[in-house]
Amino acid sequence: MLEKNGRYLPYRSRARRVLRAYNIRGIGETIRIYHKGRRIGERELPMAIRELFPNAVYLHGGAKYQSKLLKIYKSGTGISEVEKLPVDYPYKTDALRYAEPEIVEVLGQRTVYGVQALYCRLRIKEVVEGYLLKNIYTGQLEGRSFLSEPVSYSFETLGFVFKAPIPRKSVNKYKAEKVEALAGSFHALEHVLIECGNIYTGGGASEMGGISMGASGVIFVYDACPGGSGASLLLYRCLDDAFKRSLSIMEECDCRRVDGCPRCTYSYQCGNNNRPLFKPGAEESIRRAILGEKTKVIEEEYEMEKPYI
Ligand SMILES: [Zn+2]
Ligand SMILES: [Zn+2]
Repeated sequence: MLEKNGRYLPYRSRARRVLRAYNIRGIGETIRIYHKGRRIGERELPMAIRELFPNAVYLHGGAKYQSKLLKIYKSGTGISEVEKLPVDYPYKTDALRYAEPEIVEVLGQRTVYGVQALYCRLRIKEVVEGYLLKNIYTGQLEGRSFLSEPVSYSFETLGFVFKAPIPRKSVNKYKAEKVEALAGSFHALEHVLIECGNIYTGGGASEMGGISMGASGVIFVYDACPGGSGASLLLYRCLDDAFKRSLSIMEECDCRRVDGCPRCTYSYQCGNNNRPLFKPGAEESIRRAILGEKTKVIEEEYEMEKPYI
């Protein structure tokens, strides 16, 4: 960071240098995929753990396979063994996953309305703990399984973190589980913010990951590839506008559902099967942010919270 007139400003060339210096663990690491002892391809980490966890249905070269084994070595590389499935196999698997973020170094900070946002070097641990089995034709949920041993992968990347204001009114008005409504508010807000990030990053929403830390309001947005791609930096720079845009996406959607819908709060990238989501809380939180409510990121407030992605 650069100090200017007593304020800390993001030092961009430094961020670029950090990006370039990333030759350490986490970049370009891949899982090699074997079928009957023959190597049929490879998949980059961390995507590989979402797609090749044991029992995952994996599409490759127009054929369907099922993962029988996924091994990640200490070096960061690994292997997967797959078996062929019949062409008309009617199911797909969606990973149930979460991620644990850790701030390695703060590279810059800014205040968005009243919300403090930190641009950071982050360490992300992605964990696949189970999966949903879905019918590919009807989309119907056929089952939910948990892995006997969760699969995880840690990598360093770049991203930002901020604390969304607490939507007190909407949560108090809600009759059922308050903590769930609170977690659902921030989880929904995280989805919408990343989805609207497409505008600022030239379609980079799928290159970003998000983590909402339970009921704390702390939200991380990061470059999904190890080392960082710069996508989240573009969103970080436009956060003021992105907050406003996120609010209008929700306000303009007429679904009137408490959890929202695929056009507003749902995300296809969600690792929690789009649960919990609480749209009125997400709207109130972002409205409070735009009106200037002041918040700061404090580690002790979120480290024990359940992360939703
Ligand atoms: Zn909607
Ligand atoms: Zn989610």
